[in-house]
Amino acid sequence: MKILVLNCGSSSIKYQLFSQEGSEWSVLAAGVVEKIGLKGSFLKHEATGSEKVLLEGEILDHKAGIDYILGVIVSERHGCVKSLDEIDAVGHRVVHGGEQFNSSVLITTEVIKKIEECIDIAPLHNPPNLKGIDAITSILPSVPQIAVFDTAFHQTMPKEAYMYAIPLSLYKKYGIRRYGFHGTSHRYVSKRACEILGVDYATQKIISCHLGNGASICAIKNGESVDTSMGFTPLEGLVMGTRSGDMDLGAATFIMDKEEIGTRSASVLFNKHSGMLGLTGISSDMREIIGAADEGNPDAINGLNIYFYRVKKFIGSYAAAMGGVDIVLFTGGIGENSVPTRAGICKGLEFLGIDIDESINGGIFGEEAVISKADAGTKVMVVPTNEELMIAVDTKEIVDELANR
Ligand code: ADP
Repeated sequence: MKILVLNCGSSSIKYQLFSQEGSEWSVLAAGVVEKIGLKGSFLKHEATGSEKVLLEGEILDHKAGIDYILGVIVSERHGCVKSLDEIDAVGHRVVHGGEQFNSSVLITTEVIKKIEECIDIAPLHNPPNLKGIDAITSILPSVPQIAVFDTAFHQTMPKEAYMYAIPLSLYKKYGIRRYGFHGTSHRYVSKRACEILGVDYATQKIISCHLGNGASICAIKNGESVDTSMGFTPLEGLVMGTRSGDMDLGAATFIMDKEEIGTRSASVLFNKHSGMLGLTGISSDMREIIGAADEGNPDAINGLNIYFYRVKKFIGSYAAAMGGVDIVLFTGGIGENSVPTRAGICKGLEFLGIDIDESINGGIFGEEAVISKADAGTKVMVVPTNEELMIAVDTKEIVDELANR
């Protein structure tokens, strides 16, 4: 079976074409269209085993972008399939499924309507996702399309984890609650960790730390998300590259008053100019901050300490929420690659059985590994995320179910 996975953003489309035979999955091609509707739009494409190519073109909208991708996939020069008929299904990353979706689904007109209803709470993300769905509907009308939601995995959270202590009427009126994001990543890495360890997913207490430009942490008990740090929007929780994460709402309104800024500017301030960038004044990029800290920059050192402390505090609170922890996972660009970040977070958590072996941790960059000491009570692991593969696996499962109906 061949499955195309699409991740449509406001001005970009990431894609991967997967081939599956039995339990084997391989990537036939991957790439990204960038600057859609802007000057200088281009497609970066790599068919497995071939050179990466950069193709410029005037890509005015998402449909043109997907047309371009499909054209390259079947092209003689850069392609990997002979005809578009070989594509059995398309899996879409959809950011927000609200309370409507707790798992991946076959896209129907009813489903599209429900995704549209979520635009109110995901105004930046769901519209481009819908554009991708629309484009495939017109180009490949007979190919089944599956929606895989970032929020769906977290729909198992109990009320005490997802309700905010604001008037209940606001939850009822606008759906103001914790939804959580990165669900596909947390689900993939937590399942994968159990596969690697040979333990039953349905019996484990797992804390998954997805540390990338955006960052979130998730408590997974017996295979279900029971709490996560991102909330109504992806602003809550951990310190991120440019997002503040948790802070006093009173401080936010105070700043707005003093600086005489409205909601739009405040949103830019807390989403784009805060986090590690705001704290250090150096960069949002963890590599640069660690480099500066190594040279003794006090703001970089301070920023890192705040970053580590916030993650550590969440690990403690999620261990409390689950009544213990069996596995702690690191993923995302920082979690997968940053030795000092993993060490800085875990230091002092030995009382929870979290005790990493520095000689192993020091050699792990972007690969699956157990980094805890052999006799530690809690396994600490690095598991590179693969949201695209998870989307492809879900897509295949649903397509198989359809065929067996
Ligand atoms: P996104 O959330 O955009 O998908 P990624 O998961 O790719 O982001 O993570 C990007 C972050 O990972 C950046 O802060 C980058 O500095 C960090 N990163 C990548 N490699 C390393 C490394 N070797 N050491 C520290 N940080 C790293």
